[in-house]
Amino acid sequence: MRLVVLGGGESGVGTAILAKEKGYDVFVSDFGKIKDNYKEVLVNNGIEWEDEKHTESLILNADVVMKSPGIPEKAPIVKKLIEKGIPVISEIEFAAPFTKAITIGITGSNGKTTTTMLTYHLLKSAGLNVGLGGNIGKSFAEQVAEDKYDSYVLELSSFQLDGIINYKPHIAIITNISPDHLDRYDYKYENYIDSKFRITMNQTEEDYLIYDADDEAISGWLQKNKTRAKLIPFSLTKTFEEGAFIKNNTMEAIINQEEFKMETESIALEGKHNFKNAMAATSVAKLMQIRKATIRESLSNFQGVEHRLEKVLKIQNVEYINDSKATNVNATFFALDSMTTPTVWIVGGVDKGNDYNELMALVREKVKAVICLGVDNRKIIDAFGNVVDIMLEVNNMVDAVRMAQRITEKGDTVLLSPACASFDLFENYEDRGRQFKEAVHNL
Ligand code: ADP
Repeated sequence: MRLVVLGGGESGVGTAILAKEKGYDVFVSDFGKIKDNYKEVLVNNGIEWEDEKHTESLILNADVVMKSPGIPEKAPIVKKLIEKGIPVISEIEFAAPFTKAITIGITGSNGKTTTTMLTYHLLKSAGLNVGLGGNIGKSFAEQVAEDKYDSYVLELSSFQLDGIINYKPHIAIITNISPDHLDRYDYKYENYIDSKFRITMNQTEEDYLIYDADDEAISGWLQKNKTRAKLIPFSLTKTFEEGAFIKNNTMEAIINQEEFKMETESIALEGKHNFKNAMAATSVAKLMQIRKATIRESLSNFQGVEHRLEKVLKIQNVEYINDSKATNVNATFFALDSMTTPTVWIVGGVDKGNDYNELMALVREKVKAVICLGVDNRKIIDAFGNVVDIMLEVNNMVDAVRMAQRITEKGDTVLLSPACASFDLFENYEDRGRQFKEAVHNL
C-alpha cells in the first residue's frame, strides 16, 4: 500500500511515522518548506519526502492520501487526486483504526481548545491513561504509533472532519456553531454546519453526542437530521432530565441518572461561555465515571488556556485581559458579556465578514472607549462611532496599550478581544497576544 502525505507538519510527519511502522510505502510531499526538525525526523525514520514542490508522478500513484488540514480541497493537486478517485483522508481517519483506545472528539466554532484542555485535565487528574491530540500538541497518529494511551481527547476542526470516512468518536462534543471559515465552504453556512456534524455521522447507539442546546444552528440541524448517538444537551437556560444545565447559580449534570452539582462560583473559568465549556467537559467526565470529588477539584483549579480571556496584570487597579484568540464576533460577544467593570476595548484586524450589530447592546452597556487596532478600521468606526464616547485608531500594540492606560480610571478593565484575524499587523493570534502582554508588562 502506498500512502502519500500532503503537508510535512505535525500531523503529516506523525502520520508518516505511523504508516511506516505499519508497513506502508510512504511519501511526504509539501508545496511549502518543511521545517528542519521535521526533515530530520523523516530522514531518521527512513521516510522519503520532498518540499517546495509536488511531483505528480510520485503522488498520483498513491493508494490513499493523507491531506493536512491546512491544505484546501481546491488545491490543484488535491483536485487531481479526487478526480482520479484516490481517497483523500485526514490524520484522524488514517490513525484511528490502529488503536483500540476510545476517543473523545471535540469540535465547534469556538471553545474547542478550552473544552479539550479542560476535558483532558479532568480525565488526567482522575488518573486515566489519557492522551491529547488533534489540533493540539503532538500528532495523534504519532501517539498511536507509540501506543501509550487507553483514551484520547482530540480537538477536531471542520477541516479534519471533512477528511473522515469511517472515524467515530465514542464521545463527541459540538461546543457551538457560528459562521467562520466560510471561504472554505463556498460561502454557504449550511455546508459549514454539515461539516461540523460529520463528527457524529458514524456514531452508533453506544456513543454519545454532547451539544449546546442553546445554539440555533445545532438545534436546527438536529431537527432536520438524525444521529444514532445518545444525545446529551447542555444549556444556560433550559433544564433536562439527562444533560447539564445551570440552575440557581449551580451547575448540574445528570448523566445515567446520577447527579453532579457544583456552584458556578467555584468553577475557576469565568464567563458564561466557559460555564458551557465546563458543562460539556463535566458530561464527558460523568460518562467516563470520574469521581465527583475529582471533577469538583479539577474544575476549581483549571486555570484556562493562554490568549483566551487570560488575565495578564492589574496595574493601578486596572485589569488587563488578553483574549487575542477571539478571532470572530461570537467569541468577542462572550468576552464582553463577562466584563463586570467599565471596559476599554481593543478590537480590529482582518474582518471576516463580521456583523457588529450582535455586539451593539453589550458595547453600549460595558464599553467606555474603543481602540481600533487594524489596518482598515472603517467597519468598526461605522458600527460604534456613535455608540461610545471615545474612539481611537492605532497601528501597533504598544500604542494601543499606552493609549488604553491613558484613558482608564481605577476599577476599569482593558480587554484585547479583536473579533478579527490578526494577519494585517501580526504573525498570528499568539504573536498578537504576546505583544499585548509584553506591552502591558512594560507599562
Ligand atoms: P477554538 O479552539 O474553537 O478556537 P478556544 O477555546 O481557543 O476555541 O477559544 C477561542 C475564543 O472563543 C476565545 O476568545 C475564547 O474566550 C472564546 N470562547 C471559548 N469558549 C467559547 C464558547 N463556548 N462560546 C463562545 N466563545 C468561546
